[in-house]
Amino acid sequence: MKLIHSAAELQEQLDYERARGHKIGFVPTMGALHEGHISLVDVAKESCDVVVVSVFVNPLQFGPKEDFDKYPRTLQGDAELLEQHEVQYLFAPGVADIYPQSPEITQRAGVVGSTFEGASRPGHFDGMLTVVNRLMQIVSPDVVVFGEKDAQQVFIVRKLIGARFKDCRLVEAPTLRDSNGLALSSRNRFLSPSDLAEASSIYRHLNEMRTELETGAKVSLTVEKHAKGIEAIPNAKLEYLAVIDPQIFRPVDDNYRGAAKIIVAAKVGEVRLIDNLNVKAISA
Ligand code: AMP
Repeated sequence: MKLIHSAAELQEQLDYERARGHKIGFVPTMGALHEGHISLVDVAKESCDVVVVSVFVNPLQFGPKEDFDKYPRTLQGDAELLEQHEVQYLFAPGVADIYPQSPEITQRAGVVGSTFEGASRPGHFDGMLTVVNRLMQIVSPDVVVFGEKDAQQVFIVRKLIGARFKDCRLVEAPTLRDSNGLALSSRNRFLSPSDLAEASSIYRHLNEMRTELETGAKVSLTVEKHAKGIEAIPNAKLEYLAVIDPQIFRPVDDNYRGAAKIIVAAKVGEVRLIDNLNVKAISA
């Protein structure tokens, strides 16, 4: 595996790969890699000859009071893990490689960008979209893989890819969970053992909600009941719990019928967690 820091050098290598007829798969990450990230690599490998994983903790997508400084940075371990999984390129640029002038927002995430995650984290999606746009320009992949775990992120990125990177296919990969159902996340390492157990009960609520919604429960009552349930988890603070129409990423009302997604964000101890679960069909 080649570890590359400079955008120009990566582009040179990838031009060489393309000249050999190789399809390029891209997995953008912020590092502190875990098996969830590796599952994205595996998805990229299914249709590509060469996989590029980027590790870049993007300052533009963190608010002033957020955990940019504390975000785990484990490049050596990341490189070893990717090597084991036969990734060809690890792209770990510095801030100046990504933002040659200075870090500045160039992309706006629109209306959906200011709801849910965007309401809790103002400017987050503009920053995320700006870096994805820049990374896509550098890598110019045939396939880019994002995790369904960050549902609102994929929703927003899909529009960017459709509008500006038409030759690239976006693939959404399912969420990898631990044995208790907790979605793997780079931030989970900051959960204490008891918080870890508490955190996985959020997933149990999502599962119960799904069953209830698929068997005729009213959306508003279901959300209300489980919001209370999550609030009652020791050390947990609920930020939002909603049932949305995945086509428009907006909350559904009690008359809605069809496919839906339950989305949740909560802090457990000091750690902010997000998760979601698909509902096949809300039916009467
Ligand atoms: P991050 O490093 O947290 O920015 O995540 C990089 C990519 O990995 C994003 O597309 C995430 O949605 C995806 N991802 C993070 N956690 C998981 C997981 N548990 N299962 C599958 N994909 C994940």
